[in-house]
Amino acid sequence: MNVSDSERIARSLAPLGYVPALSADQADLVVVNTCSVRAKAEQKAFSLLGQLAAVKVRRPELVVVVAGCVAQQEGERIRERAPHVDLVLGTRAVHRLGALLMRLRTHSRTLVDVGMDEPPDEPVETPGAADRNGVSRFVTVMRGCDNFCAYCVVPYVRGREISRSPEAILHEIRGLCAAGVREVTLLGQNVNSYGAKEGICSFAQLLEQVNTVKDLARIRFTTSHPKDLTAELIRSFASLEKLCAHIHLPVQSGSNRVLACMNRRYTREHYLDNVAKLRNSHRQISVTSDIIVGFPGETRTDFEATLGLMQQVEFDSVFAFMYSDRPNTPARLLSDKVPEREKRERLHAVLALQDGITAAKHQSLVGSVQEVLAEGFSKRPAAAGAAEGFGQQWTGRTRGNKIVHFFDAGSDANADFIRPGRLVQVRIERALAHSLWGRLERDPAGP
Ligand code: SAH
Ligand code: SF4
Repeated sequence: MNVSDSERIARSLAPLGYVPALSADQADLVVVNTCSVRAKAEQKAFSLLGQLAAVKVRRPELVVVVAGCVAQQEGERIRERAPHVDLVLGTRAVHRLGALLMRLRTHSRTLVDVGMDEPPDEPVETPGAADRNGVSRFVTVMRGCDNFCAYCVVPYVRGREISRSPEAILHEIRGLCAAGVREVTLLGQNVNSYGAKEGICSFAQLLEQVNTVKDLARIRFTTSHPKDLTAELIRSFASLEKLCAHIHLPVQSGSNRVLACMNRRYTREHYLDNVAKLRNSHRQISVTSDIIVGFPGETRTDFEATLGLMQQVEFDSVFAFMYSDRPNTPARLLSDKVPEREKRERLHAVLALQDGITAAKHQSLVGSVQEVLAEGFSKRPAAAGAAEGFGQQWTGRTRGNKIVHFFDAGSDANADFIRPGRLVQVRIERALAHSLWGRLERDPAGP
């Protein structure tokens, strides 16, 4: 969501004549786009703002903007901790950035805009040179969240759930495809409840419409809340040819007691049943997850239930986090906090278990041929290829969202066979810890 917001911010600055600078030292304007979901992310944001204070002493004309969830959460209080900040831009004020920068010219104090009155379908700027890459892009389908999980700050900093209309979403996707984009990731805190409140249509019906967009090759989405996963959405993996076989389905904990304290509103059994149904719908579906260790009151037995669930499901990958207190959330008031050292040990146990599972999954793909959407040259070529003297390596993702570095062993006469945005077939030759490495299979009849 933050990457997507940063792209939006960059796009809204382009028409005002801003171009990306190489470093903060050379910039006229720095936007610090913050995340508040864990305490560490917030600390990092304030540490970066501290460094920018030093730049601003040397160059007082530098404009410093704080955007995102910390901006929304702290509002006026940012002035106390970072008095050199010129503008505090809340999560629903991005479309007002241009006007606010104009106002700054005549404003001597920090300007704060944390208003929540964003229309659901504010105009979307056309893609520009500032964007991440021209092949795969995020498209926001809904903002905010109504779920109030006990540990989570999102509903407080991103506001109530609000869905964009299918017309606006399809219009944006068609525009992206006309600019060469081949893959979109539909974004929302809980896409499974898309449109429910507004009575628009179900998320599965939205996917069906997106599936008809010409020139679009792949659809992804994130995130799904397990309590709202419908049979209709599970069927989509079998019926929609553009929908990639990957679901990010955060479980958070394997203990029913902890899940109840977290206010997640599903049980371990319900979650496992969902995974079985997903695998019945699409045999090769990748299932990834988020896990929190050390939620207040999590006992050793609760934690072992999480490890047990991980062994049972065999996720393709997980993001694991140590619980941290967040402002306004009910969990911060719970008394039996797990000590830092214990949380760290539990985190390491989760990561070690998952590393073994991921390694086995990667190994099982060696020898197979995978469809990969070529994105561009690898920034950090896989050592496997570099060691063998292979020059430029390409990078892309499988339908299951695994990163593949690959090399074209074809002759120079066909040097332009691969280009960004092309779907290619890659034979996997090696399994690496966080990616795969392979060789292009030449199939001139391919897409
Ligand atoms: N909307 C998504 C997740 C958004 S936050 C969902 O419902 O799954 C991303 C992840 O951060 C969460 O899934 C959770 O694992 C983690 N997280 C959120 N609040 C946290 C906290 N207070 N401490 C540690 N991890 C947290
Ligand atoms: Fe946070 Fe829960 Fe909403 Fe996800 S569903 S954003 S974890 S409150």
